[in-house]
Amino acid sequence: MKPHLSLLLALTFTSPLLAQDAKPLGYQDTPLIPGTQWHVHDGLRPQPRVITPGLNPGDAPSDAIVLFNGKNLDQFKKNADPKPNWAVEEGCAVSVKGAGYLESAGAFGPDIQLHIEWAAPTPASGTGQGRGNSGVFFFGIYEIQVLDCYENQTYPDGQAASLYGQMPPLVNASRKPGEFQTYDIIFSGPRFEGDELKQPAYATVLHNGVVVQNHVQLIGATGHKTVGKYKAHPEKGPIKLQDHGNPVRFKNIWLRELKPVDSQ
Ligand code: MG
Repeated sequence: MKPHLSLLLALTFTSPLLAQDAKPLGYQDTPLIPGTQWHVHDGLRPQPRVITPGLNPGDAPSDAIVLFNGKNLDQFKKNADPKPNWAVEEGCAVSVKGAGYLESAGAFGPDIQLHIEWAAPTPASGTGQGRGNSGVFFFGIYEIQVLDCYENQTYPDGQAASLYGQMPPLVNASRKPGEFQTYDIIFSGPRFEGDELKQPAYATVLHNGVVVQNHVQLIGATGHKTVGKYKAHPEKGPIKLQDHGNPVRFKNIWLRELKPVDSQ
């Protein structure tokens, strides 16, 4: 027997999905979450933005700022002639003798997620700090060390993925020279009010997918044979890659500025 039209309409417009969609998303009669204006399970709280994650691990998500995609260094400052610039070779950014730091044209912060891939020169040459040395600098002054630490020992607070001169990584997760390695870094920049430090910087670092710095507080700017201090700077700053005289190769560099969901 054919169902009556009114029955079909009733089934259509009272489907569980539609009924569910019409309901409020959450609650307003629950306690307030301390420090916020939101109730527990508050359906009026802003929804997180929808983004598209990268296809493969390490790929930039849709909201990333791509600093280097293997083609050019347009997102970085250029040196004034006659000083040479970093080169792009086989999809990688490589330091050139005398070029100095590779500095982003843009300023980023205060909280940043950064993905970068690097490979130490092969065949390996040099020892200790002289083997595959470079670095990733946040705000231009806080260095996450890049160093070929595969069967190459140095002072622990200067090895790969250390907060240089401050904190060694939890483990040495280094790959062989010539093999690409990943850093995924969450860097929370310091906050200042005038000249006064209100909140120090923190770094979380994954080296080849392994957590090696777990929300570690920085003492101040990193440096060689020094204990760094904080000196007030803007909430956004450049990303710099170090030229330490070793042709470390970099690729797939992207970052995201991290903003709380309630302020997006
Ligand atoms: Mg370095």
